[in-house]
Amino acid sequence: MSAPPVPVIKINEMCIQEQLVSCICDRGEHDIFCEMCGFTLRGRVSKKCPHHEGVFHLMDINCCPRCRSDKLKEV
Ligand SMILES: [Zn+2]
Ligand SMILES: [Zn+2]
Repeated sequence: MSAPPVPVIKINEMCIQEQLVSCICDRGEHDIFCEMCGFTLRGRVSKKCPHHEGVFHLMDINCCPRCRSDKLKEV
């Protein structure tokens, strides 16, 4: 008689994945691309750090300086 596979293994995998999410506060600058107008610039898109949710970074960009859309992508 063999026992069926235990689903607990899956849960453990998920826990490990969550721990791998690292602090993004100190990440470097990226090329930022606006999906609306195609504007590109160098910097960081404003994002909430999973470890420091209340931290706000003044230099981070949350909308396109040209068209004001928030469809920005770090590339
Ligand atoms: Zn952080
Ligand atoms: Zn734009």
